[in-house]
Amino acid sequence: MVSRVIPVDAFDLVIFGGTGDLARRKILPGLFRRFAAGQMTDDARVIGASRSEHSDDEYRAIVRDALEEFVTKAELDPQQVDGFLNLVHFVTIDAMGTGGWKKLAKTVRKDVINAFYFSVAPSLFGALAERLHEHGIAHENTRIVVEKPFGRDLESARALNATLAEHFDETQIYRIDHYLGKETVQNLMAVRFANVLFEPLWNAQYVDHIQITVAETVGVGGRGTYYDKSGAMRDMVQNHLMQLLCLIAMEPPSRFSPDSVRDEKLKVIRALEPVPSHHIVRGQYEAKSGEPSYRDDVENPRSLSESFIAMRVHVSNWRWADTPFFIRTGKKLKARQSEIAVVFKDAPHAIFGQKAGTHRNILTIRLQPNEGINLGVTIKEPGPGGMRLVDVPLDMTFADALGPEAEEVRDAYERLIMDVIRGNQTLFMRGDEVEAAWAWTDPIIEGWEQRGEAPKPYEPGTSGPEDAQMLLMRDGRKWREIKE
Ligand code: NAP
Repeated sequence: MVSRVIPVDAFDLVIFGGTGDLARRKILPGLFRRFAAGQMTDDARVIGASRSEHSDDEYRAIVRDALEEFVTKAELDPQQVDGFLNLVHFVTIDAMGTGGWKKLAKTVRKDVINAFYFSVAPSLFGALAERLHEHGIAHENTRIVVEKPFGRDLESARALNATLAEHFDETQIYRIDHYLGKETVQNLMAVRFANVLFEPLWNAQYVDHIQITVAETVGVGGRGTYYDKSGAMRDMVQNHLMQLLCLIAMEPPSRFSPDSVRDEKLKVIRALEPVPSHHIVRGQYEAKSGEPSYRDDVENPRSLSESFIAMRVHVSNWRWADTPFFIRTGKKLKARQSEIAVVFKDAPHAIFGQKAGTHRNILTIRLQPNEGINLGVTIKEPGPGGMRLVDVPLDMTFADALGPEAEEVRDAYERLIMDVIRGNQTLFMRGDEVEAAWAWTDPIIEGWEQRGEAPKPYEPGTSGPEDAQMLLMRDGRKWREIKE
């Protein structure tokens, strides 16, 4: 396959929070990979900004360390590392103060694309937006990138949107949900909308149900204090799982343009039905083999926040009438696995008889660990002995078909940052989408808070609380196994 890397135009990217965890783990390694691939040229500059005092060279040393820690050795060509570091600069700045802004105004070139990545606590977003204007740094072509969490409920998300809107137009605001930057997620759109095969079957008539699973093996770790204030619903469902659900459930957009895609996603969110309490199972991991429980991890012995949630969700429209979407996410589960499974209905008439068993076509879209798409097809088991049926995978993992280049699936952050520079908002959440998502989420959370409901304990290394199994078993369905 011929490489199709198209270099982006010259840009200055300022990373507020350039010394923080996200910058070190994702943003800087992602930029380096794009530089090494030739997509980001010598015309680009990356300007770290935070309160700490660093010269350009000191910051370059921080960036070098980050690359050595988070980029594989095979990718770390010393010449390319040096080339990348030449593009790196640093400005000491306090989002809440006055120091550093004049220097930043002088540093940022006005004649190239300007993007400002807000990789700091959301409480600083408003101050940053305001100061960028106050100091004449922002102009009509400036782009800002904001990280999750975007609010913790509808009211705070509205307030945040309003603050950003005071200084920036919606076309300048890039709200990141890194799940949308995953190769497979975009491939899901290609599979749905570039093939005639699936779309006619993509509805309540042929789909029995859909499962979305985002399972992690890790606990809340060092994020305990933050996590305990949000729980799995706010941390994962309101954004990542909701976005995946939208891409599965949405109508075909008229074109692959930012607003056409986002309009269709918004319609799905608005069509979500309220979720009754018996369609929700929340859980909290227990202690095991000397490892702390959730409550130990968050240092809150009475915490009622969930580290696991499973829900039965309905999209109330013609396409999906009565088709359940089962979604679940949790920490300290059996394996790290993110997967969407579209489970089709049984063939209408079983001509092969009882002995052949029941077989269903299942389209699985794996987001991690091994990105890929797989369709389970039922065929005759080879050999003598009559008609025995067996399910075989029709594997649409790209590497075999597209060659080694396709194996090098890009990290979501790389793609999304390049999209910011290209000015393409398709894979970013629009303000009204985020608000609609909170409008659906808020009453669900209020419901369990008002009832004072405690999450069910579950053993680490399992698939979550037993009750989550019952959510499907009640009507004869089963979760797919969580496995690597
Ligand atoms: P972090 O490690 O705590 O880093 C925060 C950064 O902000 C540091 O560089 C800090 O540097 C800078 N900072 C703090 N106060 C500042 C101020 N007043 N003015 C200027 N800079 C200031 O946080 P993080 O984990 O990188 O997270 C950053 C954002 O990304 C947060 O909104 C978080 O929710 C979001 N996020 C993070 C992850 C992740 O994996 N880490 C994932 C998704 C979303 P100084 O102390 O030198 O100022």
